[in-house]
Amino acid sequence: MIVPHGMAQAVSGPGRTVILGAGVTGLAAARASGLPVYEKRQRPGGLCASYYVRPGGKERLAAPPEDGRAFRFEVGGGHWIFGATPLLWRLLERLAPLACYQRRAAVYFPDRKLYVPYPLQNHLSYLGADVAAKVIAEMERAPRGRPRTLADWLEQSFGPTLTELFFAPFHEAYTAGLWTRIAPQETFKSPVDLDLVRRGASGETPAVGYNAAFCYPVRGLDALISGLARGCRVHCQREVLRIDPRRKQIEFVGGSGLRYEVLVSTLPLSEMLRLTGLEVDDEPDPHTRVHVLNIGAWRGPAFPPEVHWIYVPNSTAGFYRVGFYSNVDASFAPPLAGQRVSLYVERAFRPGDYGDTGKDAEESFGAVEELRRWGFITEVEAVSTDRIEVAYTWKRPGSRWREQALARLQAHDIFMTGRYGKWVFQGIAESIQDGLAAGAALRGPA
Ligand SMILES: Cc1cc2nc3c(=O)[nH]c(=O)nc-3n(C[C@H](O)[C@H](O)[C@H](O)COP(=O)(O)OP(=O)(O)OC[C@H]3O[C@@H](n4cnc5c(N)ncnc54)[C@H](O)[C@@H]3O)c2cc1C
Repeated sequence: MIVPHGMAQAVSGPGRTVILGAGVTGLAAARASGLPVYEKRQRPGGLCASYYVRPGGKERLAAPPEDGRAFRFEVGGGHWIFGATPLLWRLLERLAPLACYQRRAAVYFPDRKLYVPYPLQNHLSYLGADVAAKVIAEMERAPRGRPRTLADWLEQSFGPTLTELFFAPFHEAYTAGLWTRIAPQETFKSPVDLDLVRRGASGETPAVGYNAAFCYPVRGLDALISGLARGCRVHCQREVLRIDPRRKQIEFVGGSGLRYEVLVSTLPLSEMLRLTGLEVDDEPDPHTRVHVLNIGAWRGPAFPPEVHWIYVPNSTAGFYRVGFYSNVDASFAPPLAGQRVSLYVERAFRPGDYGDTGKDAEESFGAVEELRRWGFITEVEAVSTDRIEVAYTWKRPGSRWREQALARLQAHDIFMTGRYGKWVFQGIAESIQDGLAAGAALRGPA
């Protein structure tokens, strides 16, 4: 149930437990507890919300038009589901039937038009025998210290040649330059297995990594969001303006308010400190903002027909990943699929960098022109940008900020959950799992 605007509880009413943010975490918490959830946008779903744009159109449609002539995009770019427990897969399948895929991801070197299957280090044969031999020698004699930063860890794990070729330029773009200053993190994304590295220097190696297989709902991610939201009390267009943690009051944009006893928040940890005015001793950990550029276009002569997404170490426009929605599921593009393609491009920024300038994001991005030059697309029929203010969250070496912030909020009966609430890297499945656990813990009499 999407509760109409204007029905928030009066500030003078009795306090109770409420949930903030109707992304997948908040929806799962609302579903498992029966408690209300407050969301700033018009619709639930958060980063996993889908929308539709007609060829030649600009308007974002919440549902596909009857004639099916629209590109389907997602706010956070392609969102593929991986890593669920068997019981969670069962729940997701009941909410929205899923199709499952074997990942086809690659590193793409545009200057050489070279695709190397992910992970690069397990497919060195694509780089030639000399490079492969050099990389293996460097990896074998790599020092085994305690790396302080992500940059140290990558250099220690993969040696100078592979770092210079891929890991350095890729991480410079992916972390918006933070990789030399943040603690090693998400190291499972770059698996280190010397046996596989050696095997990959002369032949193929098996798929590895956290998302080697993934699923996507047959009727789109919006079908899963609708399934999760069914029966939940979702109050949309309720943007939290500030929270008084001592009086336990929430003030929404527009002036309405709400009293609470316990607050479960899926909003970013940094944002909750700002909204509550609570402070901690340690300096805040950094995050990156990501602009997702969704593109519907005609297929170009060099469009990769097979890959689901590519990691790009050096693009002129500064993006680090391009995903091909319609290579996963043809229903992402309107009829003439195969000719028409739907794709997404991700570029990271530091908060305060470009994006606060008021310049039009699409114009400044330059990605469309670059993808045309690469021959991936020709005529563009739909383009739409989403800005994710807190997209990837990082930790400074030795930082205690996250722990301090969680404890400070908790002391005021504010419990943080989900990827952004907890300030960790995790996907949809773990986020839903977090929400279900929070909801189960809240259910029943106080
Ligand atoms: C670029 C990118 C790609 C990703 N790709 C994948 C992938 O392929 N597979 C995967 O499993 N995971 C992926 N993820 C991770 C995935 O997006 C998250 O795990 C998941 O969406 C987290 O859901 P959430 O509900 O916790 O957060 P969100 O989806 O961010 O939901 C938080 C909600 O809070 C609302 N909100 C914010 N501020 C306020 C306010 N002041 N008042 C009221 N409401 C507010 C927001 O509008 C939003 O709806 C990706 C993430 C990013 C950034």
